[in-house]
Order: sequence, then C-alpha cells, then structure tokens
Amino acid sequence: MQYGKLSIMETTVKLECVHKPSTTVKSAYSSQECGVCHYPDRTNRPDQQTFCCVVCGFSTHADHNAALNLARRLEDAELRLSGKARDQSTAHEAT
Ligand SMILES: [Zn+2]
Repeated sequence: MQYGKLSIMETTVKLECVHKPSTTVKSAYSSQECGVCHYPDRTNRPDQQTFCCVVCGFSTHADHNAALNLARRLEDAELRLSGKARDQSTAHEAT
C-alpha cells in the first residue's frame, strides 16, 4: 500500500467503487493540523511519515492524522466543498 500518493480523483474513484457517495472537502493544512486538539503547525511533522503534535503530544502516522482531519471536515459545512465551489477551486488551483 502506498501512502500519500492518491490524488483527489483517485480517492473519489475508489469511493465510487464501493458504492459510497463521495464528498469533497478542503484539504488545506490537513497534514499539519492535529487531529485531536486541532493545532496547525508545520513543526507537527518532524518527517514525511510522522505526525507528533507540539501542543498535546498526539502522535500517529501522518496519513492517519490527515484522515482524521478530513473526516471531521465532512461535518463542517464551511470546509465541505459544494459542486460549484469545487469547480471554482479546481479552476483557481490551475492558474
Ligand atoms: Zn494536538
């Protein structure tokens, strides 16, 4: 299994393969934000695979921590992208 290499499109396709509805969320800082206390800081990532919060000490694989943050964002209307916002975001990223 390869961590950290899936694009948004690949993730969406994999979710559709198991017949689950897919939702897009903002991914900004999901790899640097603590999944427990939500403190965002680059220093929470001492290396590519490790997440260790400098505030609360929560430690796990970096991809697991990012998944916790993305799952939480599904419940947040401001961090969940609608179809129109997703299209604008994609267009903005391409420029
Ligand atoms: Zn923390």
